Amino acid sequence: MARDKKTKSKTKISDASLATTLGRDAKAFIGAVNPPVYHASTILFDSYETLKTLPDSAPYTYGRFATPTSQALTDSIACLEGGAGSFLTPSGLSACVLALIAVVRPNDHILVTDSVYGPTRQFCDSYLAQMGVVVDYYDPAIGAALSEQITDKTAAVFVESPGSITMDIQDIPAISAAAHARGAVVLMDNTWATPLFFKPLQQGVDISIQAATKYIVGHSDAMLGTVTATAELYDKLKQHHRLFGLCAAPDDIYLALRGLRTLPVRLQQHMANALHVAQWLSEQPAVCEVLYPALPEAAGHALWQRDFLGASGLFSILLEPCSDEAIAAMIDTMRFFKIGYSWGGYESLIVPFDTPRIAKFCEQRGQAGARLLRLHIGLEDAQELQQDLQEGLERLTATN
Ligand SMILES: *Cc1c(COP(=O)(O)O)cnc(C)c1O
Repeated sequence: MARDKKTKSKTKISDASLATTLGRDAKAFIGAVNPPVYHASTILFDSYETLKTLPDSAPYTYGRFATPTSQALTDSIACLEGGAGSFLTPSGLSACVLALIAVVRPNDHILVTDSVYGPTRQFCDSYLAQMGVVVDYYDPAIGAALSEQITDKTAAVFVESPGSITMDIQDIPAISAAAHARGAVVLMDNTWATPLFFKPLQQGVDISIQAATKYIVGHSDAMLGTVTATAELYDKLKQHHRLFGLCAAPDDIYLALRGLRTLPVRLQQHMANALHVAQWLSEQPAVCEVLYPALPEAAGHALWQRDFLGASGLFSILLEPCSDEAIAAMIDTMRFFKIGYSWGGYESLIVPFDTPRIAKFCEQRGQAGARLLRLHIGLEDAQELQQDLQEGLERLTATN
């Protein structure tokens, strides 16, 4: 399934090999394979003279700025993203917030995809709006026509592809070109694809954001965000990261580094399992649509094929109109799919979304009244996951 176009050249080492080698320095740490976890706030200096003459480039001066543990992760992410540098935040949401705050000033205008992660939208509508920022939401399918909505005041365009519930794929190169033509920067929430399956900075994006909580940590046991910038925006991002006092906890950073080592193999299996399950679901009568860009008949498949290097394990399905009781009968007693938010861990999850926005989304694609379920396909056996869903759909149909 691996689609290794674009990332391979004679001299460039593959992401699979990078994921196992980045951030390691055995010689510096008694030969240990993994960098140790530094629990450090204060870093001591030899003398007043050392303190006075400390160069700006001194690597370690205070725990909030960097330790060898955080450096190992930021160096690794920056390399995989192809950026000038990365910063860590205590959650994925704080990574989205940092990226926005770093590039937006009072009275600016920003364009945000209508499919954006809900809490990011809430930040825009509350905090940014209060700052006097004008926030407009655009159709994720807009592509190059976004240029018609860009004004002299547009400071930034926020993209997320695919959107984490409705799964719309965006034309990132076209959007980036339209933004750059008017001097706006492009921020991307790249959590779904991870830096392995989509390379934002190669596609014109200026700042790439990861909810590392999801696939990078990969085990549903830590919260973490990363933000990676091009050289042009690196200093701005660094300044705001410091101003807001952001940092991440050493044990969580360690878990992310540990997750990173197996990210390539986990993602391949998430993709294989998700393709199997999505294909099967698309043939079930109770399912009116499978929103998974890796399926040939899915909306956005052509763009996905052109720009992505793989598909992760998160997708949504639209069920024929049915009652809450029927949904409950399906999902309450599943063997492997458990009900819960978040995703990117090794385990399968299922969760209904029935907000007014989702109802409108269904209506707009000719599926009025359809019920949206979001599935995260974990690393269990694909056949057994299919069986679990089949039994769930049987309960749903029997109850409806
Ligand atoms: C989960 C998620 C976030 C936020 O990450 P947290 O670590 O939960 O704060 C941001 N963007 C997307 C697309 C997400 O799925």
